[in-house]
Parts: sequence; C-alpha cells; structure tokens
Amino acid sequence: MSQIIDGKKMSKQIKDELAMKVKGCMIKPSLAVIQIGEDPSSNAYIRNKSKAANEIGMNFRLFQYAFDTSEREIINRIVELNNDEYIDGIIVQLPLPNNMSAKRIINSIDVSKDVDGLTNKSLARFYNNRKCFIPCTPLAIMELLKLNDIEISGKHAVVVGRSNLVGKPVAELLLKKDATVTICHSKTENLEFYTKQADILIVAVGEKEFITGDMVKEGAVVIDVGITRENDTLYGDVKFDEVSKKSSYITPVPGGVGPMTVAMLLKNVFECYNTKNTSK
Ligand code: NAP
Repeated sequence: MSQIIDGKKMSKQIKDELAMKVKGCMIKPSLAVIQIGEDPSSNAYIRNKSKAANEIGMNFRLFQYAFDTSEREIINRIVELNNDEYIDGIIVQLPLPNNMSAKRIINSIDVSKDVDGLTNKSLARFYNNRKCFIPCTPLAIMELLKLNDIEISGKHAVVVGRSNLVGKPVAELLLKKDATVTICHSKTENLEFYTKQADILIVAVGEKEFITGDMVKEGAVVIDVGITRENDTLYGDVKFDEVSKKSSYITPVPGGVGPMTVAMLLKNVFECYNTKNTSK
C-alpha cells in the first residue's frame, strides 16, 4: 500500500519555522507579486500565496494590471520594486496574456530578488552550479523527497514534461543528486515504456489523470505536479486510485506539491531578506 506524501502537513512545519524567524525581524520581509490579466487559476494561486504569507507574518503586496497594460508600464513597476529596499522578493504570476513577452518581463526582475528563480541570470547560475534561487516547484519536489528519506542516488528518475518552470529544473536537480534521469515530453514515443522503468516518476504535464496504473512500476515513488481545474475541483496528472495501489509513495492533488511550492517561495523570500540584512 502506498504511503501518501502529505505536502500540506510537511509545508506547515516549514511555515511554522519561518513564522518563528519572521517574528524576530524588526522589519517584516516583503514579497511583491505582479498579476496581469484575470486568469482564474492565477487568482487561486495568488490567494494561496497571500494567505500563506499572512500566516507567517510576511508582508504580501499585490500589483494588479489589466491584460492590455503596456509591457513598459509593468517593467517600470518592476524596476521600482527592484530599487525598493523594503521589497525582498518579486514574482510575476504566470501565465501572462499572449500579447506580452514573459521573458522580457521576468528578466527585468533583479537577480537578487528573483525568488522564483526564472530570470536568465538565475537560470545561468543554476545550470552552472552557482548560488542562486531555484524555481519553487522543483525545489518543493526535492524537499518532499528529502523529508520522506527517499533515496535518489543511483535511481532511475523519469520526468514527464520539459518546461523551464518544472520539468527541466527538476531533472537537473535529480541529476545533481546522482539519479539516472530520463526526460519525456509530448513527442516521446511509447511513453509508458519509460514511465514503467521509473523508480521515481515525476509528472508535470497538465492533463487530468494522464498516468494510469498500468504505466507505473510496482514500488515506484510518484510525484504528481499537474493541476487541472474542472468545475472548482482540482485533478492531478496521475490517476490516484489506480497508481496508489502500486506506488510506494505518492503525492495527492490537492495537498501534495502545491502547498510545498508555496512554502519554498516563502523560504526563498526569507533568504533574500536575510542575505540583504546580513550583508549590510
Ligand atoms: P507546460 O509548460 O505546459 O509543460 C507541459 C509539458 O508536458 C511540456 O513539456 C509538454 O511537452 C509535456 N506534455 C504535454 N503533453 C504530453 C504528452 N501527451 N505526453 C508527454 N508529455 C506531454 O506546463 P508546466 O508549467 O510544466 O506545468 C505542468 C503542470 O504542472 C500544469 O498542470 C501546471 O498547472 C502544474 N504546476 C503545478 C505547480 C504546483 O505548485 N503544484 C507549479 C507549476 C505547475 P512539449 O514540451 O513537447 O510540449
């Protein structure tokens, strides 16, 4: 029987530790979030981040823009926030409306405040083994594996999905921990040939219940990153009822990777704050 990885409970421990640290801060750490447009999933993610920041006593400042705001106006705001000594971390909530360049906007965030780790500078540092902020979802996946004492070295990890946000960075982190890594994507032929070999299977596709029981090896560790929202219900990429009968560990959706991602974001913001204040 599979052990369920309780991301909600584990993220609470991390948030509790952060709350203690924030309590001791003279000036509270602050996270600025830029939201453009009215994507319903983004609204939900932002609510979660705001709630979690409030829970630990961190300031949360939301800057909302209509979808037809000019890129220049948004970039100007980001530059202001870069220069604002009371703002520690800045994120741009994705996805952005199609009329904007996410790359240009994200790259205007100063690398020292890039708590999502998505600017070109952060990514260059990450892939060159230099100190940087690591994208929060891959970081959350690694934290869940660590907290559950799941061995990575020498294991075959299969990552389904190759986005810059999740698939590629988590594959890199697994490689850094000496896993043998296979990355699959939409052009992979005979996907289940690969998924069935996985000791650790990470799925970040965004298709409801896409991985079924027959695609998974007995005893595999399964991390479900996907989130599909249908009529206010959230579904993962993994068919939980089937896969949990075979896996040794599995993350649920909701309550798995999602809450830990938020905790990792807050941890990165606190780290920004700490670095800034200890280097003064
Ligand atoms: P994305 O940028 O859309 O990437 C999806 C990846 O899945 C792509 O690499 C794509 O391949 C691959 N893919 C699509 N169809 C496939 C198929 N039939 N077989 C194999 N691979 C396929 O999405 P993302 O940003 O990585 O996010 C993935 C999911 O995770 C989404 O549901 C998102 O909402 C969720 N997410 C959750 C969290 C969290 O905190 N829990 C955080 C971030 C994202 P190609 O590259 O070939 O197109």
